[in-house]
Parts: sequence; structure tokens; C-alpha cells
Amino acid sequence: MNVLVKCPRCDAGLPVKAADAPDVIKCGGCGCDIALSLSESVRAGRALDRCPVCGGADFYGRKDFDPKMGLTVVIVGIVISAAFYWFKRDLIAYSILAAATLIDLIIYQRLKDLSVCYRCHTEFRGPEARHSPAFDLHTADVLEMEYERKIGRR
Ligand SMILES: [Zn+2]
Ligand SMILES: [Zn+2]
Repeated sequence: MNVLVKCPRCDAGLPVKAADAPDVIKCGGCGCDIALSLSESVRAGRALDRCPVCGGADFYGRKDFDPKMGLTVVIVGIVISAAFYWFKRDLIAYSILAAATLIDLIIYQRLKDLSVCYRCHTEFRGPEARHSPAFDLHTADVLEMEYERKIGRR
């Protein structure tokens, strides 16, 4: 399992491998020390049961999606189709636009799921971290507030 630790102070993302993660890592953004406490199960890559950063056990699943990538495909499609449109080749223009949308859809479907900690937003990638329930706004509100109060950000 790959863990992207989110620094509680500056939100920098720090990638670590669960199998050989140290007890403490130093944040590259603000220089603070972040204590990691990995459960047996997370370290062995069996299941995601407890967050090593905040100790929480509530996670949600989302697609491992880089919004910039999808947008680039659409923009390139629009630019190319605009050029054809300019030369009165409407049909070609529309098909290119349709193709770009389709490529986007395919990219989206091929994306893998990852789990995110509700409290500290640490991300977990790997086959054993793909079964978290969908995001719930109410849960997020409650747990984020609880966590931010705990670390003194509110
Ligand atoms: Zn930091
Ligand atoms: Zn957490």
C-alpha cells in the first residue's frame, strides 16, 4: 500500500510505502515532524483499518483522477475541432469533439479507486485500499472539524 501523508500543518503531500514506513517523517514543506503509527494490517498490506497519521478509522473512496489530464484532452479536442469548424468542415469538427469526450470517458473508467482519510486527508493507494464507501459530506464536516480542533487549527 502506498500512503500519501498529508502534513497537518501545511497540507504538503508526503509519499511513503506502508511496508517500510518509519515512525516519524519530516515534512518537506514546513519541516515539522509527523509521527506515523501504522497498524499491523496496514503495514502488511492486508486492509486499511486505521490511519497512520491521525488514528482515525473513517475513509472514503474516490477515483484516482488528475483533473488537469482530463481537461487537457477536452481542450486539445476543442482547439482542433475549432480549426476544422473555421474551414467549414463542421462534421469533422463535431466528430473530433465527440472523440475527445469519449477519450475522457475511457480515461475515467480506467482510473483506479483510492481511499482518503476523512480527518487528515491522507491518501491510500493499492489493491487493499479500494473498497471504501463513497464520500459523505456530513461525515466529512463532523470529522474534519473534530480533527482540526484536535490539532489546534480552529
Ligand atoms: Zn508541513
Ligand atoms: Zn488520517
